[in-house]
Amino acid sequence: MELSSIEIPIVLIKEYVYCPRIAFYKYFMYWEPPTESMKFARYSKIDILKIVRGYGIDGDIYMEYPVKSRSLGIYGKIDIVIDNGKRVSIAEIKLETSRARLWRKSYHHLIQLTAYTIATEETFHKPIDRTFIVTQIGGEIIEINISPNLRRTTINIVEEFKKYIQQQKPPPKTPMKTRCNHCFYRKICV
Ligand code: SF4
Repeated sequence: MELSSIEIPIVLIKEYVYCPRIAFYKYFMYWEPPTESMKFARYSKIDILKIVRGYGIDGDIYMEYPVKSRSLGIYGKIDIVIDNGKRVSIAEIKLETSRARLWRKSYHHLIQLTAYTIATEETFHKPIDRTFIVTQIGGEIIEINISPNLRRTTINIVEEFKKYIQQQKPPPKTPMKTRCNHCFYRKICV
């Protein structure tokens, strides 16, 4: 398999940062039942419109919009895209988080948002204006600056994951052992 022919769902980029093994198992289709947070009810479009408009963001709003970066080989559905004609803004909905948490415990969400940024730019052929995380609990909007460093890190992570997929070789386990306690794959993860 050529590295350039491998395409990865963006949700697995997030998993790879959380634990590389989980992403690897999911890529090769070991099924996992939905978790409570996955089943958590999403905002209605009206709620989102209120939050986004309340933040002063104008433009046409699309939800669950399919985006793809052919150059990087990643694809997915971004929760919210706002297109003002010249530029696009994006937002990803999370159950709850904070700016401090995104840079530590939830770094995987930051990398996921960066991957969506890259894929949205390529899909819309427009530069990204602003990027946000919207929390379901509390209805907070956290604006994130997608820096060149975040982009570089994300690209490196995608390239690294692709090499493990190509070799069909399990990547290292997460060093954060507490993540294994409730992991669906702990019985097969040796
Ligand atoms: S058991 Fe731990 S190392 Fe293995 S996949 Fe789950 S979280 Fe990762």
